[in-house]
Amino acid sequence: APLSQGEANMALERTFSIIKPDATRRNLTGKINAKFEEAGLRIVAQKRIHMTKSQAGKFYDVHAERPFYDELCEFMSSAPVVVQVLEGEGAIAKNREVMGATNPADAAPGTIRAEFAESVGENSVHGSDAPETAAVEIAYFFSGIELVG
Ligand code: UDP
Repeated sequence: APLSQGEANMALERTFSIIKPDATRRNLTGKINAKFEEAGLRIVAQKRIHMTKSQAGKFYDVHAERPFYDELCEFMSSAPVVVQVLEGEGAIAKNREVMGATNPADAAPGTIRAEFAESVGENSVHGSDAPETAAVEIAYFFSGIELVG
């Protein structure tokens, strides 16, 4: 039998994404968004912002003790980024798949990082890794009224 509306929407999920400074600088926003849309991810919220270093630092708080933390926060506040909410069936895992591995040298062919990333640090995109982090990250950048989607 055909699925009811409720059943059909059951696995609909939202994830948080950032198009990073290395990509906005090279005018790759459209090409990266095309990858998301081709994979069946819908961009339900999106805006261009320029983070302060302290805003980037709060976002990457979990990495505060890592050796690359300061450089990462410098980079993420070095130019505008595009923050976005992507929606789709299993959106969190699907987005991680489309992004590719953190280090572009290890990223599968056709992924965003394989095609566009410049280095392990300047790797073009961020994507949430779990439902809990997705919820926290979306709430950090978007208000309720921006998420009526
Ligand atoms: N990063 C870095 N050097 C490293 C590992 C990570 O500069 O050795 C940066 C990189 O921009 C990465 C971000 O820190 O995307 C977060 O790291 P994570 O391991 O969470 O990777 P991701 O989830 O982004 O693939």
